[in-house]
Amino acid sequence: MIVMKFGGTSVQDATAIHNAANIIQREQVRVPLIVVSACAGVTDMLIQLGELSSHGEEHKALGILEELYQRHQQIVSELAHGSTGSASGRTRSVKIANKWEGVRDTFMRDSEELRRLILSLSVLKELTPRTLDQIMSYGERWSSLLLYHELCQLRIPTIQVDARTILITNADFNHASPQMQLTETKTRELILPFVKKQQVVVTQGFIGSTSDSATTTLGRGGSDYSAAILGTVLDAEEIQIWTDVDGILSADPSILPGAYRIKRMTFEEASELAYFGAKVLHPSTILPAIEKDIPVRVLNSRNPESEGTLITREQTASTACIIKSIAYKEGITVVNVKSTRMLMAHGFLSKVFEVFAIHKKSVDVIATSEVGVALTVDSAENLEPLVHDLQSFAEVTVHHGKAVLCVVGENMRQTKGIAARLFAALDRSNVNVELISHGGSEINLTFVIKETDIEQAVKALHDEFFSGINEKDPMFDINHL
Ligand code: ADP
Ligand code: ASP
Ligand code: MG
Repeated sequence: MIVMKFGGTSVQDATAIHNAANIIQREQVRVPLIVVSACAGVTDMLIQLGELSSHGEEHKALGILEELYQRHQQIVSELAHGSTGSASGRTRSVKIANKWEGVRDTFMRDSEELRRLILSLSVLKELTPRTLDQIMSYGERWSSLLLYHELCQLRIPTIQVDARTILITNADFNHASPQMQLTETKTRELILPFVKKQQVVVTQGFIGSTSDSATTTLGRGGSDYSAAILGTVLDAEEIQIWTDVDGILSADPSILPGAYRIKRMTFEEASELAYFGAKVLHPSTILPAIEKDIPVRVLNSRNPESEGTLITREQTASTACIIKSIAYKEGITVVNVKSTRMLMAHGFLSKVFEVFAIHKKSVDVIATSEVGVALTVDSAENLEPLVHDLQSFAEVTVHHGKAVLCVVGENMRQTKGIAARLFAALDRSNVNVELISHGGSEINLTFVIKETDIEQAVKALHDEFFSGINEKDPMFDINHL
């Protein structure tokens, strides 16, 4: 069996859902488990709905609910209309029409439930992480229902399984972690019987539940992670991530539209890229797949003929290029911590890290000097108490508006002089490197620049490292969409 995950844009409207169902039909013989994200933009709207309600702005929240309701009902109308066009025979058309009526009823019931929730939250004036997870879960529940019915309409033997019955997590609402043992037991028990009968199973990405049935979510973009978790516990042959670009590209296409498709990557490269901001994969996706050595393929639902990017343990193609891709994270804050004595006091660094650990702030880039240390954090939220604690033994300055850039590639292991080329290229483009990391990994180089320099820096580095590449390179497709 395989896992196929469809992201928000791949199910954003009736056409996309119909297209996704066709892609699934082609893979039917491999018995896919389908993991679906909410239709594009829906999770953002649900969050807004929750926040507005808790600020007492129930009219605006009800307006968003109405928009969501109309959008999903519109998709039903379009998909159902397709059904009467393609159905063979009147009896079948009537049956299908009744099924779509059932979907409409569910949307109506859910909408009523959300309306009551909006009214309660606006009285309570609070939105707990637990309630937010409950609210966000509707997005995936709705999109999966639509795709399920579209698959039935194509006469593909399909069943639905609520992800909350199989993906069991801890109670860390909004950022829950899977409890792998329980998830494995539940998933195998509830999914394998259908796999054995060659049925397609549709479930939701992103959502799960605690062992006492409270709805949880895995963090934004978490459907990729759901796909990897489920694929791992089911020993899938392959995990496919269907999105809106041709695969993992040599840079973010929204900054560099001409970026190249990478044909092959290693788990380690993909992991580093995702961690350092390449939104195409959730940073945790690769970890479960590594455990069972399951290949992950990133594919384009708008261009299903493209081979996408295949991620495996070993480097399986050669290339003359030293790096594979450039990623970046925006909204970075640098915290400079200077020992109050002139020279680095014994135990100073461990004290600094202890403070970061106590405040649960993870650090991406660290640079040390004789008198201090600079660290980056990717959210300035709740930084004040941390700074306060550091100030008890150090001088602290905080700088916002930074970005972390990262170049990744297996070939970096054997190559010297990359940093020099990188600095020279950035210097020619007037981009100042403010910090560079002390090489936590042999396959990446990470550094900090001003947020406003991101575009220039990515372009300069792409020109520098990919200029010699040609059409025959076995690792890159330079002519993809
Ligand atoms: P989905 O909704 O399918 O999960 P996402 O929006 O989360 O899709 O991720 C896909 C997007 O990731 C692309 O549209 C692209 O803009 C962005 N992206 C950033 N870096 C890269 C990269 N190196 N390769 C491909 N896409 C990237
Ligand atoms: N719908 C969720 C989000 O927008 C999860 C996902 O798309 O992966 O974050
Ligand atoms: Mg995503």
